[in-house]
Parts: sequence; structure tokens; C-alpha cells
Amino acid sequence: MDEIRIFAPATVANLSCGFDVLGCCLDTVGDEMLIKKNDLGEVRITKLTGQDLPLETDQNVAGVAAKSLLGELGSKQGFDIEIYKKIKAGSGIGSSAASSAGVVFAINKLVGEPFSPEQLIPFAMEGERLASGNAHADNVAPALLGGFSLVKSYDPLEVISLPSPAELRMVVLHPLIEIKTKDSRSIIKQNVSLKKAISQWGNLGAFVSALYTEDYALLGRSLQDEVVEPIRSILIPYFDDLKQVAMDKGALGFGISGSGPSVFALCKGNDIAQNVKTAINEFYKAKAIDFELHLSEINTEGIKILE
Ligand code: ADP
Repeated sequence: MDEIRIFAPATVANLSCGFDVLGCCLDTVGDEMLIKKNDLGEVRITKLTGQDLPLETDQNVAGVAAKSLLGELGSKQGFDIEIYKKIKAGSGIGSSAASSAGVVFAINKLVGEPFSPEQLIPFAMEGERLASGNAHADNVAPALLGGFSLVKSYDPLEVISLPSPAELRMVVLHPLIEIKTKDSRSIIKQNVSLKKAISQWGNLGAFVSALYTEDYALLGRSLQDEVVEPIRSILIPYFDDLKQVAMDKGALGFGISGSGPSVFALCKGNDIAQNVKTAINEFYKAKAIDFELHLSEINTEGIKILE
């Protein structure tokens, strides 16, 4: 096999109660990538459509993640990378993670699959380090593993795959304003009070339990964030109103996707998700901000090989 075409999914990280440790994989939103072996012994970004992003190998997260993987293998094999971007950079739904995870998945396949999906996570994290200055795993892990991922620890890296109750749907609104991960990280306070920490780990534990027991109501009650949301939501136009609109239509919970500006509503079942999507659309189209709106199942497979 000399080339492979893949779907590299968008992901929703943090999920309110799991700042930097929780993420899940979307199904209908993502990029396409074509990765081919070349005889030049170099990694090149040969095509990039849909977004204005760097083509230099060391400036593009796909190039950096690819080189990190090949460096570990001690391989001199070259690769040409084509990226067809559908996810906008700085959207908060894992644009950089899709490219980082996608490229390591593809190269791993093309060199005979020396690594398991779990083992690919650290290489993809190197792309995240370039994008945001922080090698976080909460987007690349669910992109590579599918479903929900919990990053138990970074040192050593330990990632746990969690079950995805079948009726879960995500409605994601992306207001087309750019918030750089770097910027939205810089406004977060570095210290958390014990009171807030207790409420956060209570919610995270309950969320994980609810995924196992398929307790949708408990999932909803656990989607609380007292640590980051009160600060970051200031950067998102009409955040509180949007939350009200989604909850009034029956969403289980509502929060910021990754570092924003995208926001998500987690819903039970297609009908409620459709109603939430319609209501958010009605509300936001009256505002002077362009936006994209998605409805997705949870993608339990992660990156997909396309024919
Ligand atoms: P997101 O949360 O949507 O991934 P980030 O702010 O974390 O957004 O990452 C976007 C940053 O990564 C931008 O500065 C962008 O220029 C840079 N970048 C480099 N290569 C890529 C790529 N292939 N895809 C997306 N972003 C990239």
C-alpha cells in the first residue's frame, strides 16, 4: 500500500467537567487527507485546501506529527500529505488534532502498523504542541480511538476509552470568530479553590459513571463547569442565551467545546437534537455573526479509511 485516503474527525474536548482530560469524537464533521509515500525521503505538505494554513512541514501540525512518528521509527521514508480542510482552524472542535491524529494514523498504516492506536497518541500530541504550545491529548485521543476518551494522566500518559451510549447526539455551533487556543488558555486562572475542585471531580466521576450505566439524566447533571466556563464564556457571543435556548429544548447539557468559540449541546436522541439545532439556528441567525451548525452522532470508530 503506497497511499491512503482518510476521514479525520472533529472532536469536542473538555465536555464541561473534564477540562484537559475528556474528549469525544464526532461523526459528520471532519477533514479528508490523502497520504502517499514519496521517494524523496522528506515529509511534504503538497496540497492544502479549505483553509489558509502553513505548507511548511515544520509549521503544519501534520508535518510535525508525521516527523515525530518517523523519528521514533528511525525511518527515512518520505511522505506527501494532502489536507482537505473542512474544520476551520481555531474553531475549538479539534482542527489541529484532526490533522495531527490523521497523519499518524495514515503513516502507521502505510508502514505496516507497528503501533496500536493508543501508541500513536504521543506523536499526534506533538502536533498539538505546535498548535497551542501545549501537547494535550484530549482531542487527538478521541480522534484516534473514537468515542469518549479520558486522559487519566500525562506523565506517564494513560488514556482510557469510555463507552458511548447509543442515543447520544451532539449539536455543535461554531460562531465564525477566531479564538486561538493560546489566547483562551492565557485567561484561565492557574489556581482553583478546593470548593470548586470538589465540585469538578464529583461531576467528572459522575459523568464517567453515567456513560457506563447509560444514565442520560445523570450525564446532563454532570455537565457542569465552575472552573473554566465562567471565564472563557465571556469570549463567546451570547453564550448564556444559547445555553438557555438549548436547555429549554431539552438538551442534557451545554458547554464550551475545547477552547471555543464552538459550543456544544449534548442531547438524547435525534428528535431532541434536531429541535435544539433548529432553536439555536433561529436564535443565532438573528445576530450579526456568521456561524456553522452541526448535528452528529458520537463516532465510536475514530479516523476512517475512505475508498
Ligand atoms: P483548534 O482547537 O480548532 O485545533 P487551535 O487554535 O488549537 O484550533 O489550532 C489552530 C492552530 O494550529 C492555528 O494557529 C493554525 O495555524 C495551526 N495549524 C498548523 N497546521 C494546522 C493544520 N493542519 N490544521 C489546523 N491548524 C493547523
